[in-house]
Amino acid sequence: MTKSFDLIVVGAGSGGLAAAKRAAAHGAKVAIIEGDRVGGTCVIRGCVPKKLLLYGSLYKEYIANAESFGVKFKDAYIDSSILLSNVRKEVDRLNSIHINLLHKSGVELINGWAHFINAHSLIVESNCDNKRFREVKGERILIAVGGYATRPSITGSELGWVSDDIFLQNKLPKKMVVLGAGYIACEFSCILNSLGVSVTQYVRGHSLLRGFDMDLSKVLEENMQVNGINLNFQQSIISIKGNIGNLNIKSNLGEESITGAVLFAIGRKPRINDLKLFNSGVISKEGRIIVDEGYQTNIPHIYAVGDVTNLVNLTPVAIDEGRVLADNIFSNSSRKVNYKLIAKAIFSQPEVSTIGLTEDQAVADYGQDNIQIYKSKFNSMATALPKRGSPCLLKLIVETSSQKVIGCHMVGEHASEIIQMAAIAIGMGATKYDFDKTMALHPTIAEEFVTMR
Ligand code: NDP
Repeated sequence: MTKSFDLIVVGAGSGGLAAAKRAAAHGAKVAIIEGDRVGGTCVIRGCVPKKLLLYGSLYKEYIANAESFGVKFKDAYIDSSILLSNVRKEVDRLNSIHINLLHKSGVELINGWAHFINAHSLIVESNCDNKRFREVKGERILIAVGGYATRPSITGSELGWVSDDIFLQNKLPKKMVVLGAGYIACEFSCILNSLGVSVTQYVRGHSLLRGFDMDLSKVLEENMQVNGINLNFQQSIISIKGNIGNLNIKSNLGEESITGAVLFAIGRKPRINDLKLFNSGVISKEGRIIVDEGYQTNIPHIYAVGDVTNLVNLTPVAIDEGRVLADNIFSNSSRKVNYKLIAKAIFSQPEVSTIGLTEDQAVADYGQDNIQIYKSKFNSMATALPKRGSPCLLKLIVETSSQKVIGCHMVGEHASEIIQMAAIAIGMGATKYDFDKTMALHPTIAEEFVTMR
């Protein structure tokens, strides 16, 4: 029998879960359909397990620096197989919590892969062995299926890993190649390197983190090289042969090398191919679902939030979009997501974090003569005793006439935590004078932001 709901959410990731629970809290009868594990990219194979691996990998530096602080370890090392296994256990725990939260909020969880059969109905194919099919009907439907990591069109691309695969490993290879220069490539190159993997990263362009402030990218590049990561700029991979553990890769320069595994980190795409959108009438363009300001597709009762729209592919944005949508539909509010000034962080080693305009963007928007740049590059006190470690770079971009801070950037220890707080001031329109009149908190790294002249 076909069951009907006020709202059917397709995809139990960050955006879908947020929307489903909020809609249920407003009294709606809600179902959420998930073919994989509840939690989605962020919880199961993204932000969360990545950050846990990162915390583990940081011990390499703590161990190396320990002696200068009088701490002696005998034969200390990181066993990445224990770390990977513990990360999986934590992900399992979070997965159960999310399932429980759905039950508690009254949302019906339907396991399986969904596709449209018309604009109001979906077929869910159970992902259990029995392959049962079930039809469900929604007065409204929200598509929140997220995205997937892409592979390059090269010979042997099926032999490479994407970021999802890292978390499934019991053991890491001794050598790895990473392709890409964005968030995932830089974060994993650093994590893997600190976990004892010899990493070579292939970057097709001239620099890491295209689109970020170039001063930050330069400091990260220097530090990754100091930390032993082999960065190959203007190079790419054209073929992979062999078996996992013993892969032969060929670069566009014709050079061949042997490596244990290849990680592709060359971007993600919306996961819309299996939805049979044509049965619903929903239009997609360039592989993403097109929505208006209210997350409505061209079919008025079908909506989309999060990475499937390929607008701002970040977890907190998807969550807010999901909640705003549910509030607006089921509680008659007219809230809007604040897309202005979204802080971003790359959990590399050292961390990179940023809010507002880069120097290049500020020059383009305001003109070189109408902005002021303040920069401070220094070694934090944490490096004093070990006599090693990454320098920090803090940078403010100020619009001259209004003295408004229009860009705030940092690379260094705790950059993400510091920029998260700076984001409040900048969102409120803080001026350079507001920064200057703030009493410094000494000795900290962040005090440089209020003492820059
Ligand atoms: P990004 O879009 O950040 O970066 C893609 C990288 O791959 C770029 O360096 C790009 O180079 C390069 N590239 C693209 N195609 C090729 C190719 N064919 N050969 C070689 N290099 C190629 O994608 P990611 O996969 O790193 O991350 C996906 C998204 O996930 C991010 O945009 C972000 O939204 C999200 N994310 C956020 C995180 C966070 O908030 N900390 C962490 C991880 C992911 P070029 O610059 O030349 O185009």
